[in-house]
Amino acid sequence: MLYNKLKMLVTMRGLSFIEATKGQIVVKKIQLNIITIFLVLTAQLAFADNRTRAVQERLLELGFTPGIADGIWGKKTETALQEFLSAKGLTFDGKVDSNELELLGIRKVREEKIFLKLNIDNSLPQAWASEFNDILEILRDVLPIDENFNRYVRNSTLEVYAWSSKVKNPFSAKPNMGGACICGDGYGRYMVLEINQNEFKDNSLHRYSVIVHEYFHAYQIGLSNDRMNPKWLVEGGAKVMEEMFVQQYYRKNSLAGDLKQSALWSDDVFKSPNLYEKYETSSKETSIGWMDMNYAGSAFMTLALVNELQKKNISEEKAFELVFRSFWTENAKQSSWKSAFEKTFNMTVETFYSRLAKYRRSDARKILPSNSLKIQNIFN
Ligand SMILES: [Zn+2]
Repeated sequence: MLYNKLKMLVTMRGLSFIEATKGQIVVKKIQLNIITIFLVLTAQLAFADNRTRAVQERLLELGFTPGIADGIWGKKTETALQEFLSAKGLTFDGKVDSNELELLGIRKVREEKIFLKLNIDNSLPQAWASEFNDILEILRDVLPIDENFNRYVRNSTLEVYAWSSKVKNPFSAKPNMGGACICGDGYGRYMVLEINQNEFKDNSLHRYSVIVHEYFHAYQIGLSNDRMNPKWLVEGGAKVMEEMFVQQYYRKNSLAGDLKQSALWSDDVFKSPNLYEKYETSSKETSIGWMDMNYAGSAFMTLALVNELQKKNISEEKAFELVFRSFWTENAKQSSWKSAFEKTFNMTVETFYSRLAKYRRSDARKILPSNSLKIQNIFN
C-alpha cells in the first residue's frame, strides 16, 4: 500500500544437517521459521519519512508546490521549502530539523518509549509482513502507545507473535496462543495475531485491520492505566478505529456491511445497553443471532455516542478524539468509568442510554464515520 518500505526482514532458514538413519543418509532441513525484527531500529527511519510527508502537507496547505505529499524528499520539496524560508528572510541549511518544523507549525513527534519486537512466522506471506510494518509505522506516529503501558507488559518491549492459521502456533515459548488479542500469561502482555488463512484467499482486509484493532487496545491500556471498561467502548472503539483505518488507506471497510446484518447484533443495544458493559453479558448467541458478533453492537453504540456529541456542536474529528483518546485518559484518573464518561462527554451514561433507546437499526447508515475522515486529524 505505501512506499519506502523498510526491509529489515532477517530471514534465517535453511540450516541443513545430515542425519544417519539405518545406514541411510537423510538430509534434513531445519527451518527456523521465525523472522524477528526489532522496530527500535526502524523508529528513527520511520520518523524521517513521516516528517517529510508532514512538511509536504504543510507546504501545500500554505500554498507552496512541493509536489505530491508522498513522504519522499525531492527537488520540488526542497525548492518549496526554500521559498517558504526565504519569505521569512531565512535560508535553508539543507536539513529539516526542529527549527524548520517549528516555523512550519508542525508538532514534534513524541519520542516513543515502547518498543515492539515482532515475531512474524514465515507461514505469513512476505507481503503481509511488509504491510504490517507500514501499518505500524503510521500507528506509532499517529497514536503512540503511552509509556504507562510498560507497567502492564512488565518491561519496555511489547512482543508481537504473528502466524497464519494454516499452521499450528509455531511459537513453542507461548504454546497457548490463538486468535487475536493483547494477552497476558503472568509474565507480561503480548500481542497475538493468528491470521486466518481464508482472509488471504478472500482478500479480506481483516488480515490488516486486525493489526490496527490490537494495537489500539495496547493504546487504550497505556492511556487508561489498564482500566478497560466498559466493553462497548473498548471494543466499539477498536472496531471503529480499524475500519476507519482501512477506509483511509485501502478505501474499503466492513462497518456498513456488519451493521446491516441483523444476525450480528441484537436489539439489546437499544433495550439493555448495560449488558454491553461486560464481555460475559454481551458475547452470547440469541435465538435470532448474536449479541455482538464482530463487535457490531459495540460499534453501533460507539457511533451513536459520537453522533450525540456532534449534536452538541462538537466536530466529527473532536467527537472521535473524545471517544478514542480523552475518555481513556480520564478513565485512568476517575474512580469509575461512569464518572470518566460524564466528565469526558458532559453527559451521564444514563442520559446516553436513554437517547440510544430512540435509535433504530436503520440509523446505522446515518451515523457511519465520514469516508473522508483522516485519523491524523482526529489525533492531532
Ligand atoms: Zn478487541
